[in-house]
Amino acid sequence: MPIATINPSTGETVKTFDSFDSHQIKEKLQRASDTFLNYRHTSFAERAGWMIRAADILETEKQDFARLMTLEMGKPIKGAIGEAEKCAWVCRYYAETAQHHLKDEVVETDATRSYVRFQPLGPVLAVMPWNFPFWQVFRFAAPALMAGNVGLLKHASNVPQCALAIEDIFRRAGFPEGAFQTFLIGVDAVQLVIEDPRVVAVTLTGSEGAGRSVAAIAGKQIKTTVLELGGSDPFIVMPSADFETAVKTAVRSRTINNGQSCIAAKRFIVADQIYDQFEREFVNLMKSLRVGDPMDESTDIGPLATDQILQDVDEQVKSSVAAGAVVLTGGNKLNRQGNFYEATALANIPKNSPAYSEEVFGPVAMLFRVKNIDEAIAVANDTTFGLGSAAWTNDVAEQQRFIEEIEAGCVFINAMVASDPRLPFGGVKNSGYGRELSDFGIREFVNVKTVWIK
Ligand code: NAP
Repeated sequence: MPIATINPSTGETVKTFDSFDSHQIKEKLQRASDTFLNYRHTSFAERAGWMIRAADILETEKQDFARLMTLEMGKPIKGAIGEAEKCAWVCRYYAETAQHHLKDEVVETDATRSYVRFQPLGPVLAVMPWNFPFWQVFRFAAPALMAGNVGLLKHASNVPQCALAIEDIFRRAGFPEGAFQTFLIGVDAVQLVIEDPRVVAVTLTGSEGAGRSVAAIAGKQIKTTVLELGGSDPFIVMPSADFETAVKTAVRSRTINNGQSCIAAKRFIVADQIYDQFEREFVNLMKSLRVGDPMDESTDIGPLATDQILQDVDEQVKSSVAAGAVVLTGGNKLNRQGNFYEATALANIPKNSPAYSEEVFGPVAMLFRVKNIDEAIAVANDTTFGLGSAAWTNDVAEQQRFIEEIEAGCVFINAMVASDPRLPFGGVKNSGYGRELSDFGIREFVNVKTVWIK
């Protein structure tokens, strides 16, 4: 893939970038390594001061950052502004809590004194996706930098200006030169970076294939990894649910970020008693969404991020329909310039179709009718993914069964799955391993050192 800004609304190549050569890569790795030697000894208060300045910059310039995100990957501008604000939140959260999350933990043993100390590891590589081009990076960088690590970013090739803007935010915030660096490199150079002895750990947010590849390289080097991969989240609606809120939230959860969110609800599993009404109202709401220019505040769904994604989504839908799925609405590319796809709903989805087993990364909903809670849980778990899940019911016994039996990194009851700096975020099964955010996230890239004093 070229490293370039290609406007997904028009297909126009706005700006291209040369990727770093091996000399530039090595120079930046050395800078990271040198910076770490001093940076690791900076105090929490110093780091927090810089991190709060980063939050201030994000808030003050959120309109500019939002336009950049929307230009490069097509998310509706309202969501892009919200994303910049959320990045400021995660910076402030870790500025305020890092010291607490990483304070020594005393453990009573037969030593005179024993405790656990958390120490930074060194330069950590983050391989990041384009779908939340600021949030995914800040979600990694805020805890990593507050813990005393230094960050190296290999961002997705279609969001280079976002990647450079983020590096610039940390520089302007006052972090030492080399504490956070963007590497403009393609996939082919990732191995070189991971294998470099100066890099101590890797986190990847992206597709299953990329996760497998990066984890295999890191595994050979015995380097810690965190993998945040894809999902095909279930959204279950039972008869006792607040129906109107559930159906509105269902549509929002499927179409947010043009349907390109790892934790978007993708499979709607609805009890037989309410299925027909749900299908009718869901389809009506999908039809009412405005697909168009993402810079326009009234747009609900913008273009998909790249032409390749548009082709992939179209192919997944067409193959599923060929296998027997029924189109309730949508099902086609829009007949206009840019990567636009109709808001789509499918039903009667056969097991042997892509819509059943794969993640569909666009505004395409899969509806399933189930007889009872046993079948709802069985369908929810009949996936290789395990990222998020939502269940709508006011029956407390049912709520407990969903909490207990759904195989996923989170269960939201009567709410849409969302990330929150205060709560751990991550998946099970092929959705990855490790956790981001909260105290769990900041402890992923630290040496948990046991201290024993006699
Ligand atoms: P992707 O193609 O896997 O790309 C993600 C990043 O990995 C990009 O920087 C990409 O670089 C790089 N990459 C791709 N293949 C690689 C390889 N073989 N070796 C090393 N690096 C590689 O994913 P995407 O299309 O950008 O993002 C969508 C996917 O991310 C979806 O599956 C989504 O569910 C998942 N995601 C998960 C989370 C989560 O928190 N669990 C959050 C957001 C997204 P290039 O751009 O240069 O190819």
